[in-house]
Amino acid sequence: MQIEADACVIGTGAGGAPVAALLAEAGLRVAVLEEGGLHGPETMTARPREMMPRLYRDGGQIATVGDPPIVLPLGRGVGGTTLINSGTCFRTPQRVLDRWRADHGLDLDLEEEFALVEEAIGVHEVPPELAGRNANLVKEGAERLGVSAGYLKRNARGCVGSGVCAFGCPTGAKQHAGQVWIPRAHAAGAAIHTNTTARRILVERGRARGVEAGTADGGTLRVRAGIVVVAAGTLLTPLLLRANGLGAESGQLGRNLTIHPASAARALYDEPIDPWAGVPQSVYVDELAGEGIMLEGIAGPPDQAAMSTPRSGAEHRELMLAARRTGSFGVMVSDSAYGRVHRIARRMVVRYDLHPVDAERFRRGFELLARIFFAAGARAVVVPIDGVPTLRDGDVTPLQRARVRPRQIGAMAFHPLGTARAGTDPATSVVDERLQLHGVPGLYVADGSVVPSSLGVNPQITIMALAARLARAISA
Ligand SMILES: Cc1cc2nc3c(=O)[nH]c(=O)nc-3n(C[C@H](O)[C@H](O)[C@H](O)COP(=O)(O)OP(=O)(O)OC[C@H]3O[C@@H](n4cnc5c(N)ncnc54)[C@H](O)[C@@H]3O)c2cc1C
Ligand code: SF4
Repeated sequence: MQIEADACVIGTGAGGAPVAALLAEAGLRVAVLEEGGLHGPETMTARPREMMPRLYRDGGQIATVGDPPIVLPLGRGVGGTTLINSGTCFRTPQRVLDRWRADHGLDLDLEEEFALVEEAIGVHEVPPELAGRNANLVKEGAERLGVSAGYLKRNARGCVGSGVCAFGCPTGAKQHAGQVWIPRAHAAGAAIHTNTTARRILVERGRARGVEAGTADGGTLRVRAGIVVVAAGTLLTPLLLRANGLGAESGQLGRNLTIHPASAARALYDEPIDPWAGVPQSVYVDELAGEGIMLEGIAGPPDQAAMSTPRSGAEHRELMLAARRTGSFGVMVSDSAYGRVHRIARRMVVRYDLHPVDAERFRRGFELLARIFFAAGARAVVVPIDGVPTLRDGDVTPLQRARVRPRQIGAMAFHPLGTARAGTDPATSVVDERLQLHGVPGLYVADGSVVPSSLGVNPQITIMALAARLARAISA
């Protein structure tokens, strides 16, 4: 099938979906291509084992190759990774925008776009009664120690605190990109092609001219369009561009990958706290944010806790039997290292080595978290650092004394960024400050890959704001 459009958008995540909606609402004929399917709230069962194969790329089993290996899950479906994210919303910190101006020549004032995006996806602070006992205890502990903490802002309307945001919101409360922007795009006349994988980006006489895609039943869809917006996500966008011989001139494509490494500690309380009740990510501790260390809530149903509890055998069993009394909370560190994504023998390979400086940051983050847990009444604290024993009776000395190397840390990561970074210098960046590929008019990138550095906070608002800025510039 061949169709004509003004703009073709590849991907429906935090980047692609707002571009599609805003371009369609500005009167452009828009075609949207999404490799995954459409998953409405009525299909969400709240069971991790059922939902992960449906909503996660490769069932959630993507991991980095490096020291240590780090699980790096992505969403796949209408809404992209926002379909399975926690809904936490942070604007890009001013210190990060200042650094982009100094290091990459990017002069970005995103105030209007932040407001537009936050209004669209219903951002507001989590009310204490929905935050869950797990997070409220951490907030109380932080307050007792005089440590800076607060309730997070999230994009949800009518949230009931069912605690399964990462497995698809069963109530439709989470205002993910597929719930908000894609219906808006559709209502404004955009054609949304699901289960359709963009393979070729058509460039004629140096200009973008369209996209060729494969459909699930083996067909080919060709979209003729003078504007092409690639928003396949930080790991897949550089692979798609490279497969088409595009964006490689600076040598930066696929490089400069930051992932915002994360990990979580467990706390054992005397009383049941039922950590799965309430919003899983509802409280933050930003006492060490200036050092690139952020603490944010993380919780989930017992089957997820079983996978992520950092012990084995009898000790794991004992911890799981105490699941109702076990709290958990996360530590995220801004990257000091850069990774790379490329293809070897047709498979995606993500290289990333945790920097020793960041291993020490994890130790510092866990030390603060352990103190907070103990101040909140925890009896014991388990940190996912090999060689550090379970901490008991308020004693954090084993953690203070530890000299932690990267390979000792059990980490995951949720915020890949930077593999087609924006900048004014074509020698050091892949797209310019309008997010247009250097030297290819009409070809744009609008997803996490353009974000030129680790943010220190969750990225969806930054990605949506940059995408909104692009859509407004194109329509203008
Ligand atoms: C478990 C988890 C929790 C998270 N929690 C938060 C949070 O609370 N707050 C926050 O700000 N961020 C969070 N994030 C991160 C955030 O959701 C992502 O950074 C963001 O969604 C990335 O947006 P994107 O547009 O770059 O890519 P994505 O949202 O991943 O979208 C890319 C889309 O492109 C599609 N695609 C890929 N290749 C093709 C192709 N060739 N053709 C057609 N379609 C294609 C994919 O299927 C996908 O749907 C979380 C991430 C995870 C994994
Ligand atoms: S906690 Fe709220 S947003 Fe998350 S899955 Fe439950 S109802 Fe949806």
